[in-house]
Amino acid sequence: MITYEQARSIVAEQIGNLHAAPATETVSLSEASGSGRILARDITADRDYPPFDRSARDGYAVRAAEAFAGSTLVCSGEIKAGDVPPAFSGHGTCLQIMTGAPVPRGADAVVMIEYTQRDGNAVQFSRTTEVAQNVIPQACEAKHGQIVLRAGSRMGYAEIAQAAQVGAAQLTCARPPRVAILSTGDEIVPYAQTPGPFQIRNSNAVSLAAQVRAAGGTPVLLGHAVDREAELQEKISLGLREDILLLSGGVSMGKYDLVESVLREMGAKFFFDAVAIRPGKPAVFATCQGKPVFGLPGNPVSTMVTFELFVAPAIDLLSGAPMRPLPFVEVILGEDLREKRGMTHFLPAHVEWPANAVAKVRALRWQGSGDIGAMVQANCFLVVAPELEHVPAGTRMPIILRRDVV
Ligand code: AMP
Ligand code: MG
Repeated sequence: MITYEQARSIVAEQIGNLHAAPATETVSLSEASGSGRILARDITADRDYPPFDRSARDGYAVRAAEAFAGSTLVCSGEIKAGDVPPAFSGHGTCLQIMTGAPVPRGADAVVMIEYTQRDGNAVQFSRTTEVAQNVIPQACEAKHGQIVLRAGSRMGYAEIAQAAQVGAAQLTCARPPRVAILSTGDEIVPYAQTPGPFQIRNSNAVSLAAQVRAAGGTPVLLGHAVDREAELQEKISLGLREDILLLSGGVSMGKYDLVESVLREMGAKFFFDAVAIRPGKPAVFATCQGKPVFGLPGNPVSTMVTFELFVAPAIDLLSGAPMRPLPFVEVILGEDLREKRGMTHFLPAHVEWPANAVAKVRALRWQGSGDIGAMVQANCFLVVAPELEHVPAGTRMPIILRRDVV
């Protein structure tokens, strides 16, 4: 059986082979704000940044050679942020200057106000001054025309600020991949409906939709299909109109697990149908009629884990963004742990950050991969490598934070 790392590589490789360049659309900066949109075109600096030699401090613009411990200069004026800088020649004078104001030609340093004493127009200095001190030179952050945001960048708050700084009011972004979500199972009813005694509500459709949105895609809800070939085929066909198709359930070994056979009849090519992980072992990845298809096991925690491991990278790549690595963090195991060898475990777990101490994680008690309640208590997955069996408290262990709640 392949490892989850191999499975992720296979997904990346096959999505690459589809050569599906994302469609683009124009998005206003305010619309793009905080949405994690992926930039589809480079953005360049419209002028130098900073556009002028900029003072980093409130203080005095000086010639460094004239401002030393014990020297006194005459303050001959001031420069506020936004001012056109006056002429400056030094020769025993200095100019009061504010943070963000242009340093005048002729001055080669700014002395912080904290290192001066003022009496009328006389300014006395208490330290030596280095040339260029507290001056941020023109163009040192970016030159006019230089790329400041590359295509493929994810528009977080810093990236939005960068676009705003250079006046990029309209952004060319990738259209978020449309991700069809189809749950399967005779026992499933819509969550707003009262289930019969042996039926269960469809929670996977909504959890997957939330995960799709968090990963940067647009969920397209196809409801659910009963475990019957004709209905599966019909609804899978609808799903194949979108950029990605996600199925939940129907990929295990049961008599009514028909997803793989129906996909095969529809011409799917399978790249894996089992991964050495727990939960989530029966995860399926195929391409069908040119579209990536994921068959995720139906138990809710398995669905959640396999989405994060295999579907999220596909959404990255189909948005024109690089595939994000799994954000592992190393923490200290708070309680002894015993797991079966041979699989990588992704256990619902809780990490705590005690004051002035290293973060500590403990696996939550759970009833297996159907236990949504355990996931509600979890703020991370504890990742247990396949060769580990008994892990004593105090061991450094990797976790993956649940990005939606931490
Ligand atoms: P399956 O992978 O089809 O064998 O499903 C395994 C178990 O997952 C089922 O017995 C259900 O309890 C549960 N399950 C399947 N689909 C869903 C769903 N859409 N929402 C919530 N639970 C589900
Ligand atoms: Mg089923």
